Amino acid sequence: MMRIDIATLFPDMCENVLSESIIGRARKRQLVDITCHNIRDFTNDKHRRVDDTPYGGGMGMVMQADPIYRCYQHICSLQSVPPHAIYLSPQGKTLTQQRCKELARLPSIMLICGHYEGIDERVIEKISPEEISIGDYVLTGGELPALVLVDAVVRLRDGVLSSAECFEEESHFNGLLEYPQYTRPEEWEGRTVPEVLLSGHHANIEKWRAKQSLIRTYKKRADMLENYHLTKEEKALLKDIKAEVNEEKGE
Ligand code: SAM
Repeated sequence: MMRIDIATLFPDMCENVLSESIIGRARKRQLVDITCHNIRDFTNDKHRRVDDTPYGGGMGMVMQADPIYRCYQHICSLQSVPPHAIYLSPQGKTLTQQRCKELARLPSIMLICGHYEGIDERVIEKISPEEISIGDYVLTGGELPALVLVDAVVRLRDGVLSSAECFEEESHFNGLLEYPQYTRPEEWEGRTVPEVLLSGHHANIEKWRAKQSLIRTYKKRADMLENYHLTKEEKALLKDIKAEVNEEKGE
């Protein structure tokens, strides 16, 4: 079972989200062991303070190194091999599906959530965590990024979704965006479902979906195609798609 420890000042916020839906069920079924630790429990300060003003002046508060490090040591003491440590930070590398796949193969990860102006640099130097960002914008804390990461990683673990197909065909898994999806009713607000999906002809459905996947990626995220290795058939298909799209645009 994969183990995930989250070091945060807001364990209830994480716990609430992680008790719901697919991740909540995965925990109940013991497919993943997630524990949220309150960094405040690891301060020696009699007022339970965990932050202070920044040296050099400036706005806001900085989380102190010691409670975070003591929390980290506690988490390490609960397992025979230290977990892979991650600090959620807007300065980190942006999280990708590829990185999620790699993290999902690890036996144990621990996530450090900063708050306020961030955390004392010395504890980052000491623990030397991987720094991961969820995008080029700044949030008030690392809890939402940690939850994003946990969700994206846990759903890739065996048994969490009903089958690997559930995520293997999804956007980003193999470098393309997913084809469009439809469900009942067959007609909604005058819009119908593409005929081929009602045909029951699996080979044609697969062909249609593969083409739609390429069309979507080309139209919405052409940049992804630069890193995607096209098969011979896909190359020919993409040539047609480009011609069709240009014709639509009247070029
Ligand atoms: N002063 C920091 C800076 O400019 O780099 C930002 C601190 S931010 C207000 C507080 C905390 O939120 C960070 O320590 C980090 O844990 C988290 N955080 C904010 N934005 C994030 C992002 N895009 N990805 C991951 N974590 C983020």
